[in-house]
Amino acid sequence: MPQTAARILHDVFGYPEFRGSQAEIVDTLAAGGSLLVLMPTGGGKSLCYQIPALMREGVAVVVSPLIALMNDQVANLHAAGVAAASVHSGTSPDEARQIADDIQSGRLKLLYVAPERLVSERFLRFLDQHPVSLFAIDEAHCVSQWGHDFRPEYQQLGILAERYPNVPRIALTATADAATRADIKHYLYLNDAPEFIASFDRPNIYYQVIEKNNGKKQLLDFITKQMAGQSGIVYCLSRKKVEDTAAFLCEHGLDAVPYHAGLSMETREANQRRFTREDNIIVVATVAFGMGIDKPDVRFVAHLDMPQSVEHFYQESGRAGRDGLPAASWLCYGLNDWVILRERIQTGESSSEQKQIELQKLDAMLAVCETAACRRVLLLQHFGEQSQPCGHCDNCLHPPVRFNGTVIVQKLLSCVYRVGQQFAAGYVINVLRGKNDDWIARNRHHELSTFGIGADFGDKEWRGIVRQCISLGYLTVNPLHHQALVLTEEAKAVLKGSEEVWLRPLKREKAATQKPKEEWLRTEREERIWQALRSWRLARAQAEEVPAYVVFGDKTLRDIVEKLPVTPDDLHEIYGMGEAKINKFGNDIIEICQTFIQNDQAV
Ligand code: ADP
Ligand code: ZN
Repeated sequence: MPQTAARILHDVFGYPEFRGSQAEIVDTLAAGGSLLVLMPTGGGKSLCYQIPALMREGVAVVVSPLIALMNDQVANLHAAGVAAASVHSGTSPDEARQIADDIQSGRLKLLYVAPERLVSERFLRFLDQHPVSLFAIDEAHCVSQWGHDFRPEYQQLGILAERYPNVPRIALTATADAATRADIKHYLYLNDAPEFIASFDRPNIYYQVIEKNNGKKQLLDFITKQMAGQSGIVYCLSRKKVEDTAAFLCEHGLDAVPYHAGLSMETREANQRRFTREDNIIVVATVAFGMGIDKPDVRFVAHLDMPQSVEHFYQESGRAGRDGLPAASWLCYGLNDWVILRERIQTGESSSEQKQIELQKLDAMLAVCETAACRRVLLLQHFGEQSQPCGHCDNCLHPPVRFNGTVIVQKLLSCVYRVGQQFAAGYVINVLRGKNDDWIARNRHHELSTFGIGADFGDKEWRGIVRQCISLGYLTVNPLHHQALVLTEEAKAVLKGSEEVWLRPLKREKAATQKPKEEWLRTEREERIWQALRSWRLARAQAEEVPAYVVFGDKTLRDIVEKLPVTPDDLHEIYGMGEAKINKFGNDIIEICQTFIQNDQAV
């Protein structure tokens, strides 16, 4: 009798229950139905097809765009005792033959393969002769030109529907706006298939946004005060900044490695390997880094520059805390980031329509940075979800008290007007603050009525006010004229005095950068067994040449510390312990726990 999904979830993967719509997805696919799944990064997409693969006859063929991704998945499946393999450019003829044999004999349950190989006639002819349980198309947004990782080979995957009409197909992605979703359905022949769209909320991620002052120093503070000894990713906009920042962190005693497209393949692979295999490594990267990195215990993602869209931000920050334990998304931004990104878009190659879209996306990102309300509510709204204030982002924990800034904003707007809407923020601020430099003198702007009316604020405060005015829609910049500040239609009402403007505080309170509450504070006693388990895990991982998390995730170790299993039955109750892992590691764990209990009583 075929095993039920819930049993497999528990016995093979060691998890007590399905998350969200996983159960329904598994049921649909196991019963032979095709479907489209949208789930945020870390939501648990893999199990959606891995469990049906174990329930159905034949081999499941999983399309994946990256070798690193395939290898990671296969290592995880092996650790759970599931027969899986991948074929790609690095597979030797001997290995390929073994895989073919294993499919022939019905032993292999999952096969990972790149799209171009799958659609080759040779491969299809091989598949024609064997039962296929299902096709899973991972990172399905690659099919669309609207997506950020377009891969033309994906568009040929429609052939699967035609050639194997009786084999169910599941397409999975973490990012798909309406246009991308339509492309997925069109190219993969999923027009009649049901869509499962999971909530995009990542409740274990704590969001924190701060104003840039001295970015690198602020980053160092964040890491040393809030994230000491944790794995994390730091994103920067340029390669040079990646190099500088990684070097800076190393100078201050942290284990940081750079990653960007300008480094040699070997360096990149070595750095990525260290990040996935070792604990506590920080990768400083351009956005080139991330896809295909399934490390579940990344504890923080830091953005040292403002991302160009909420989609980018969400995907990158989503790489933190896939294991469900508390994690942080930290973002440091300044007015300059916004100006540079705007310039990049405007001088880019895209059509003018596309540029408009990109500029809007950038402004939506600025709004997330500038908001005085719950960050999560705004983020989720962006993905079409309504929600209540979350209670654990920086703004919820330390709500900024807004003040009536109408008069201040009027000063700024009227100064912009008086200098003829011809000058960038830095200049306008100097006029407001009454700095009589040569340039201002030459333009005779020291004679303006607005000269010096803003002397009570410093440069930093005024930049904050300018940013708020941009995100509130009273100001914008003219890209064709040195990023000069320009008034919008909405500014008129403020200047006339018929509209009030409420601003968030100009100095952010220190409290807003406090550490997220640790949910699990280990006692000294717990700390001892925790460390024992961690060094055991590291040794096992090194012996088997797999990342530490493939042996056990942090959440499993934590459950062991809390439950202290000493019998095989106890082990079945531990989160993340399936049969294969119990057989392999169970004795070690029981021994560690027993030794700990004995020593503890002896004390
Ligand atoms: P995605 O591919 O959606 O980014 P994964 O499939 O890699 O996410 O899953 C993220 C993590 O969550 C993995 O460590 C996975 O084992 C875990 N996970 C998935 N489903 C469950 C579940 N029902 N219970 C507990 N953990 C789960
Ligand atoms: Zn909140």
